[in-house]
Amino acid sequence: MTNLPLAAPDITDRERELVMQVLNTPILSGGPMVQRFEEMAASVAGRKHAVAVSSGTAGLHVIVRALGLGAGDSVITTPYSFIASSNCLLYEGVDPLFVDIEPDTFNIDPDQVELALDFHPKRHRIKGILAVDIFGHPARWDRLEAIVQEHGLRLIEDSAESLGSRLDGRPCGAFGDAAIFAFYPNKQITTGEGGVVLTDSDDLAEMARSLRNQGRGPSNEWLEHVRLGYNYRLSELHAALGVAQLERLAELLGKRAQVARWYTQRLKDLPFLTPPTVYGNVDVSWFVYVVRLKDGIDRRLVMQHLQAKGIPTRPYFPAIHLMPFYAERFGFKAGDFPVTEAAASATLALPFHNNMTEDQVHYVCDQLQSLSETLG
Ligand SMILES: *Cc1c(COP(=O)(O)O)cnc(C)c1O
Repeated sequence: MTNLPLAAPDITDRERELVMQVLNTPILSGGPMVQRFEEMAASVAGRKHAVAVSSGTAGLHVIVRALGLGAGDSVITTPYSFIASSNCLLYEGVDPLFVDIEPDTFNIDPDQVELALDFHPKRHRIKGILAVDIFGHPARWDRLEAIVQEHGLRLIEDSAESLGSRLDGRPCGAFGDAAIFAFYPNKQITTGEGGVVLTDSDDLAEMARSLRNQGRGPSNEWLEHVRLGYNYRLSELHAALGVAQLERLAELLGKRAQVARWYTQRLKDLPFLTPPTVYGNVDVSWFVYVVRLKDGIDRRLVMQHLQAKGIPTRPYFPAIHLMPFYAERFGFKAGDFPVTEAAASATLALPFHNNMTEDQVHYVCDQLQSLSETLG
């Protein structure tokens, strides 16, 4: 069995049809398709506003700016994530105040947040919390909401990985002052590149619209710029792809859930790894399928064995605080966030996409199982 991709988009004739529809009009940017995509995205998250942007990272940057966070401020976040959830703070001179994660879901640990708010030497600078729904599993938003209420903080949801997930029936993307979805080709749905800012606040939405569009004011006069802005717009072509994907959302998420079930069924009894943990009253929309190798298992050996059988894998995620430019700039060192570091050295993403067949999943699991004998 060859050519098992780590991830793959799921594109049909409906996507091609809607993109062609845009190409048959003269409006390639700032038109009806973006508006349609925004309405659909807002409805998935149960939000009043959705502002389409050119990437999830751009969306996070816009939120940090729109909330008025800047130099001298700190925002609590986690070092076990894709780097964009911290970089968006650095863009505005905000310091990421890292706290450690829960060992099972890899999400921000609310107890660590409370400790930081009470005892961290920089606690007086803390202005907000930016939490990520890692691999699609909702963070503990009920506790985070209570904490920001008590301390008068801003709350940002990085739901780049959790489109379609729910916590206590509430959709991801609905938590905090503002949230994002992201649409890179490996996410649950794709626009090629793209993202969306989600909020219930009229002011934040208006600011996000201005920032993505070169700082233009609400009048939208083309050459009147009322603030420093960016070109973070999403084109009509990208939005068309997104509309078609959101029309198929239930189908896409259903296929992913099926692949995840096949994996977990086979992997739950393997002695040297733990399949993804799901707990609490949550529905997980699967972004990736990440297993955790047990202590003492050599990840490189596992990866090499699988690669030799044509199975690509990836260590997801390396710890952000140990990336050299973070370590140098903020003085982080190994041992600062032990739960993150242990997870970062033991987690592994397996091939996972909508159209993976049961046979392909079994093939990957067979190779893992044959490792059991070697690894014990
Ligand atoms: C993918 C992702 C992003 C960024 O999305 P892009 O569209 O690639 O810029 C941000 N945060 C997390 C946690 C992600 O997984």
